[in-house]
Amino acid sequence: MSVKTRFAPSPTGDLHIGGARTALYSWLHARANDGQFVLRIEDTDIERSTPEAVQAIIDGMNWLGLDWDEGPIYQTHRFDRYKEVIGQLISQQKAYPCFCSRERLEELRETQKANKEKPRYDGKCRNLCADDIDLSTDHVIRFKNPQEGVVTFKDVVKGEITIANKELDDLIIARTDGAPTYNFTVVVDDMDMGITQVVRGDDHINNTPRQVNIFEALGAKAPEYGHVPMILGDDGKKLSKRHGAVSVMQYRDDGFLPEAVLNYLVRLGWSHGDQEIFSITEMKELFDINNINKAPSAFNTDKLKWLNQQYIKSTPVAKLMPHLQWHLDQQGIDLANGPKIDNLIPEFAERAQTLNELVSAITTYYRDFDEFEAKAAKKHLRPVAKPALELIKSKLSGLENWQAEFIQKAVDDTAAELDIGMGKVGMPLRVAATGGGMSPAIDMTLEWVGKQRTLARIEMALVFIANREARA
Ligand code: GLU
Repeated sequence: MSVKTRFAPSPTGDLHIGGARTALYSWLHARANDGQFVLRIEDTDIERSTPEAVQAIIDGMNWLGLDWDEGPIYQTHRFDRYKEVIGQLISQQKAYPCFCSRERLEELRETQKANKEKPRYDGKCRNLCADDIDLSTDHVIRFKNPQEGVVTFKDVVKGEITIANKELDDLIIARTDGAPTYNFTVVVDDMDMGITQVVRGDDHINNTPRQVNIFEALGAKAPEYGHVPMILGDDGKKLSKRHGAVSVMQYRDDGFLPEAVLNYLVRLGWSHGDQEIFSITEMKELFDINNINKAPSAFNTDKLKWLNQQYIKSTPVAKLMPHLQWHLDQQGIDLANGPKIDNLIPEFAERAQTLNELVSAITTYYRDFDEFEAKAAKKHLRPVAKPALELIKSKLSGLENWQAEFIQKAVDDTAAELDIGMGKVGMPLRVAATGGGMSPAIDMTLEWVGKQRTLARIEMALVFIANREARA
């Protein structure tokens, strides 16, 4: 049977990093086996589902590059189908209306709790005779779970799992208003869509035996399951907002590349020897659902940053550019106002762990600043630097060819004429021209800043020094 997997998020918030990982594993399993991947939006919880959250899921998937072959399929568009299957189960006496009031169920639960029993429905309406059934009064529909025997399913992560049916009660499959419930819609969808493997978080593991019984009742074969352990924070607790960013799009905003996030997520719970870096092509070739780790993994932002840096360094400029451009647009930085970005990237990418760091390092070449960085200015824009700045300014203003080698000569000549060390010219000049004390070699730096801008900024530095002198 050809492989078909799905990602079935409930649209109640952003695409969470844990959801993205199960999406990735499902997607990779499909891609690794020439299969199909479905995006299904589980929006039956009308109160909690929002169109914004649907969009957030789609945006997150698109940003990560996880494409789907079918969908998005919305469960809210399939109510007729769920109704039909519920009708089928009732007519086959595999489901039944339950008239128990909320109060009765509450009481039942209290008594069971007091007797230290597991709260469960006691099956009062399971065998009502036709005379006791008045469908015009409020009722839910319950699935007749087998009362004997066991239910077994194969879990590719945790191994075979077997549960005694008497542990499971008769699950509500349609609420009083007729709305179908999660465990039921999942089964109908997985059945109708021909899903062969389900990868999801292990918070769903208790649902699975119930779902398998419903498959059985429908005469369908349940898929294989893979329940992936939760992602933990660095304190060993379930990853949550307390630990920092958990939404996929926050990682985009924070300057991560989708390839780095995917690479990080694939390794967070799966391994192939001790290989750390996987291109998407490699992931598709090597990913094996049977190698998902049983033990939970802890999210490590430093490792993700390290990976991101490897990707920023190794991604060709043309491929990096759309991502970088997004951040530049966010900052309102126009590349038309400065040097050709292709020349800068190799220089700055080395040191940047995120695209945000890369953008802040290059901003000075494209946009003027109002103030010098306080610490650098305090150290280097002192009255003693004034003669060097004045002399270099006059030399630079006479330069015809604004190129590194001529700029370097002007710097050398200034140092020689004033009989001072290179650093005494270079550092004040660097701070003047870029606003801060960190930049590549001074000749390249000035070439990129450009002639006009350099001269204006040296002038600004001289004013800064004059003001400082006046205040002293
Ligand atoms: N809609 C469920 C969730 O978002 C997932 C259901 C499933 O994967 O079976 O948790």
